[in-house]
Amino acid sequence: MLDTLAIDIQPTTASRLTQLDPANMEFGKLFADHMLSVEYTGGEWQQPRIVPYGPLSISPANSAIHYGQAIFEGMKAYRQADGSVALFRPSANWQRLNASAERMAMPTIPEDVFLHGLRELVKLDAAWVPNVAGSSLYIRPFMFATDGALGVRPSDTYHFGIITCPVAAFFNKPVRVRFEQKYVRAAAGGAGYAKNAGNYGAAMLPSKLAQQDGYHQLIWTDASEHQYVEESGAMNVMFVIDGKVVTPALSTSILDGITRRSVLELARGWGLTVEERRVSSREIIEALQAGRLTEAFGVGTAATIAPIATMGYEGQDHDLPALSDTSFARRVGAALDAIRTGQAADPHGWMVAV
Ligand SMILES: *Cc1c(COP(=O)(O)O)cnc(C)c1O
Repeated sequence: MLDTLAIDIQPTTASRLTQLDPANMEFGKLFADHMLSVEYTGGEWQQPRIVPYGPLSISPANSAIHYGQAIFEGMKAYRQADGSVALFRPSANWQRLNASAERMAMPTIPEDVFLHGLRELVKLDAAWVPNVAGSSLYIRPFMFATDGALGVRPSDTYHFGIITCPVAAFFNKPVRVRFEQKYVRAAAGGAGYAKNAGNYGAAMLPSKLAQQDGYHQLIWTDASEHQYVEESGAMNVMFVIDGKVVTPALSTSILDGITRRSVLELARGWGLTVEERRVSSREIIEALQAGRLTEAFGVGTAATIAPIATMGYEGQDHDLPALSDTSFARRVGAALDAIRTGQAADPHGWMVAV
């Protein structure tokens, strides 16, 4: 067991910080100088290490590659108005990583290993947190099986790591989506609520087919009837109908997004009616045609809010009204950004200083 939380830190002698051009950041290509690595062996997590970012060595029989015991998280650190750096709801990511781990028969990570390791890593690479408006340091915690054995059973050994990369403001160009009625992202009782690698690999073909037809992404529908809305791409999805914020209720096939949760908490705090329930594609299209649906948007860490401009349904495109500055989507996006950058008060205690 971990006797102490002392982290073994091996700083780089060849920083790549000069390669960082805040005006030209492509998502997920340039990584900060260091990474966190922790190995699980003999039924225990070993001492966490922070080492220079670089390749890992794995067996060709690695069971994550063959059988998919691999999970991840996505979160961000933000430069604050006073120059310091803070994380947005990191405990929520830790809890969700462990929920994913349990579903995939992987060991859970102790809170202090995750949070302390994360803070030490971000502190060491604080110069990589951009200070251009809207930018942030994207953080990717991940865990995968490391046994080099072909038996189909849970691995005995695992690697937990955290890598980070600076990201630019996301330009929320309104997107074209279509309701997917052939392929399925996740079924009830499956692993859709877990952030496990296989969910994303299996979504690539349907997404590519939609892109070939001129859509940016899909709105996934339920596996049994292809009727009820699940998510939009790798984001949760919300609608404003009759002035109420409507979103699919969580289930085993829907990812419990931290942005989703935060947006709903803000909406309730503003006195809006929030409905977490089943939402059918037919209800959405009918409400849009009747002028009752005024907004539709995805919510997730990468984009925060991704407004939907057009929805394809049974071969026909339906356009949404343009979002005004007083729309819920714009107001809640601005409110979240202000909290994350320390420009507004943080009444929920979401921000954690590094
Ligand atoms: C990560 C993810 C989300 C969004 O979760 P956030 O915590 O808000 O970033 C939504 N759906 C899927 C499928 C995801 O993987």
